[in-house]
Amino acid sequence: MTAVHVPGTPVIEAGLLVSTSPATGIEAGRLPLATDADVRQAVDSARAAGEWWAGLGFAGRRDRLLRWRALLAKRIEQLAELVHVEGGKPVADAIVEIVTAIEHIDWAARNAGRVLGPRRVRSRLILAEFSGHLEYQPHGVVGVIGPWNYPVFTPIGSAAYALAAGNAVVLKPSEYTPAVGQWLVDSFAEVVPEQPVFTAVHGLGDVGAALCRSGVDKLAFTGSTATARKVMAACAETLTPVLIEGGGKDAMIVDSDADLDAAAEACVWGGMTNAGQTCIGIERVYAVDSVFDAFVDKVVARAGQLTVGPEGTDIGPITMPRQIDVIRRHIDAAIISGGRAVLGGPSAVQPPYVHPTVLVDVPEDSAAVQEETFGPTLTISRVRDADEAVTRANALPYGLGGSVFGRRRAVAIARRLRSGMASVNSTLTFAGMSTLPFGGVGDSGFGRIHGEDGLREFGRAKAITRRRARSLLPSMTFERTPTDVARLVKAIKVMYGR
Ligand code: NDP
Repeated sequence: MTAVHVPGTPVIEAGLLVSTSPATGIEAGRLPLATDADVRQAVDSARAAGEWWAGLGFAGRRDRLLRWRALLAKRIEQLAELVHVEGGKPVADAIVEIVTAIEHIDWAARNAGRVLGPRRVRSRLILAEFSGHLEYQPHGVVGVIGPWNYPVFTPIGSAAYALAAGNAVVLKPSEYTPAVGQWLVDSFAEVVPEQPVFTAVHGLGDVGAALCRSGVDKLAFTGSTATARKVMAACAETLTPVLIEGGGKDAMIVDSDADLDAAAEACVWGGMTNAGQTCIGIERVYAVDSVFDAFVDKVVARAGQLTVGPEGTDIGPITMPRQIDVIRRHIDAAIISGGRAVLGGPSAVQPPYVHPTVLVDVPEDSAAVQEETFGPTLTISRVRDADEAVTRANALPYGLGGSVFGRRRAVAIARRLRSGMASVNSTLTFAGMSTLPFGGVGDSGFGRIHGEDGLREFGRAKAITRRRARSLLPSMTFERTPTDVARLVKAIKVMYGR
């Protein structure tokens, strides 16, 4: 008996990883499976390539990264089509994803020299005879492990910044989107043909684990919190530093003075774009009592108009077939525990699609509120006021992003959210702002991609002091005298003793 192939589930055939469309089952890509030895070989080659790449300096790398960015812009339709076929998301969503990635490449390329390059640091009176110098040197080879939900944006969020900082990168794309990962490295190789500076290794989770143990100098992981724990454990064996971009269960708060039409529009987008398969997607909403009913009506009206299907729709298929079981379990759990579906519900789950679902009156301890659903579903809860909303929003171990709609108190509420990011009167926008750092707290991970912090994440600080003059108060020498020490004590009391 031959097993029936579920569209979207990758298969292995004769040493090749074959990815297929979750909507139609047509083949999207066929990539060689890497062995442990292949992964080590890729990292060894990248190490030599990285030395060459680092030697180009910021200006040389900037030129090449900008040419790569131009190539992506020229071929945006081709890449979007591949993202659409392999992952299922609507072409328009794929375009937006690629646009955002292009913006990040541009910013990282243009700003790496300013942020990471050598600079003088002010000295202080205590060591005034020395000058300070700081620069951020590349780690060497950075391993990047990425998920399938944003197969361009997430790897580039790490890789572009790592490359701009002077590292070589070995990417392990998700087994669900290997062809997109290969497209990225192939396009880079067109612009940088001299050395294997940015390459990919393909396979299942074991290939990701092999990358963690391959001797990379830093590992940037984006994916689920459960896998993040395994990645960190593997990296701990060799003390390899890690950056973790984990999952989330982002909340949106709708305050009493919010523009409800704008809030509903952004809520539906933030919760249901990419069929809800967004790490920073809105999954929970807390609306204050006075606006709750009107807000729910507006969300239901808008979400109810979204089209679902394989082509030209708002919502495509669920990329990873087994995720449908999670989404179904969460909707069922919400209903069983007393929640109501005001749109969709259990019947909305029609593999490979899930239709928009809005749940209200769901107890806070339900899986639908506690766990990452990764589907086009929202729970909307009634709260007394913004304070209760913040308390509930902050009650989960996750802390990735969040959103606040309101006027007077909105920014203050956003600052109180226990999350790495928040958007006021919009959703998800912080991800596209290349000047801002991206990352979470708690179970959502640590470390930052994007922005200046994202560049520094891929360089190690190198600090140098340089003597400029003889020391007037010699202390760090065996030549010092008791008088020198007594003077030092006197000086420190004058400087800091008050
Ligand atoms: P997974 O954690 O399942 O996989 C992520 C990557 O890790 C894949 O490439 C996977 O390979 C690989 N992997 C699996 N097992 C191991 C292992 N033992 N050692 C090393 N690598 C391994 O996540 P998903 O692909 O399902 O992605 C969805 C998750 O990613 C969600 O939780 C989402 O919130 C999160 N995410 C977080 C983002 C952020 O920036 N914080 C952004 C986007 C998504 P394979 O696919 O072959 O199993």
